[in-house]
Amino acid sequence: MADWPLEFVVLAKCSKSRAKTSIVKLPHFDVQTPMFMPVGTQGTMKGMTCDQLRELDCQIILANTYHLGMRPGVELLNIVGRLHKFMDWDRALLTDSGGFQMVSLIELSEVTEKGVKFRSPYDNRDIMLTPEKSMEIQNAIGADIMMQLDDVVDVKITGPRVEEAMHRSIRWLDRCIQGHKRKEHQNLFPIIQGGLNLSLRTACIEEMVKRNLPGYAIGGLSGGEEKDEFWKVVHHCTGLLPKDKPIYVMGVGYAVDLVVCSALGADMFDCVYPTRTARFGTALVPTGQLHLKANQYATDFSPIDDKCRCSTCQRYTRAFIHSLIGKESVGCHLITVHNIKYQMNLMAELRQSIKDDCFEEFVQTFMLMLFPNKNYPQWTVEAFKAVNIELIT
Ligand SMILES: [Zn+2]
Repeated sequence: MADWPLEFVVLAKCSKSRAKTSIVKLPHFDVQTPMFMPVGTQGTMKGMTCDQLRELDCQIILANTYHLGMRPGVELLNIVGRLHKFMDWDRALLTDSGGFQMVSLIELSEVTEKGVKFRSPYDNRDIMLTPEKSMEIQNAIGADIMMQLDDVVDVKITGPRVEEAMHRSIRWLDRCIQGHKRKEHQNLFPIIQGGLNLSLRTACIEEMVKRNLPGYAIGGLSGGEEKDEFWKVVHHCTGLLPKDKPIYVMGVGYAVDLVVCSALGADMFDCVYPTRTARFGTALVPTGQLHLKANQYATDFSPIDDKCRCSTCQRYTRAFIHSLIGKESVGCHLITVHNIKYQMNLMAELRQSIKDDCFEEFVQTFMLMLFPNKNYPQWTVEAFKAVNIELIT
């Protein structure tokens, strides 16, 4: 088996839970985990420059294969150089397989053993995305971490289709391994499937671990399933996966979910939530969310968060941002900067608490800020308890 261009160095482990802090050494950058990865569509974060992303301490960002495969396209990327050069980003990149976009375009797609057929929304052409094609596009993009093409099933679907998708994802993983032409430069992560069925998850992990890949993703979650089922699947998978490789839970971006999944032993996360919610005027703060459109902010001359060090909080008031929402895209941009900084800060503090071996206290304080009346959601109480963390009651 190939030696992958990834080194996983565990710096510290929590003495109570499964939380750990590590460095993932990738070809372009050494990434500290647990880490949140913002999602940049079409090679750029909406309205954000690469300088701003560096300033916000983003170490790895996610680029969408589906969009990049369409525009600029494989041919252009092969000519101008890979995406790092094209977008002037010198840190780590992760690309998805293009599969998740298929689920969002599900009415246009048809899954067969060969791949996924769907109609391009750009020019109405029928396109077949196969595991080999996904690897070809991702090799042209050149990201540090590539994701396998998997057979994604809506989390609300149960029965034989879930098992079929799990087995097909294993077969497609083997085709991705075959199709991957830059093994010394780019890592390939498999995606654990099996829905909410723990024995299917176990079977999938057993097969995928045999392939000796550099890290593992847990897929098929964050699709609207019950939180109680969500955390149990994550807990089950992190318990079975190798301890010496990074674990990436896909689609996780709510602050509570990030802290719970870190406690359960996961290392990497991505989600469009912090940037998408900014577009609706919502700012993320330690006590929850501020809906800056609300009239109460029209005369509120404090920053979004007076403890935040982001450029928005240094310079602008809630009242100013309130006055821009819906009228000027700069309003949404200012909140996006803050929200990414909020996620980065949260993860930096979380990592530090593991190093100081006070992760349990970090969790307790974090939860108390969000739920000052201690009315914690029951699923969080149980998830933390499963890894020996007690909330303050
Ligand atoms: Zn801020």
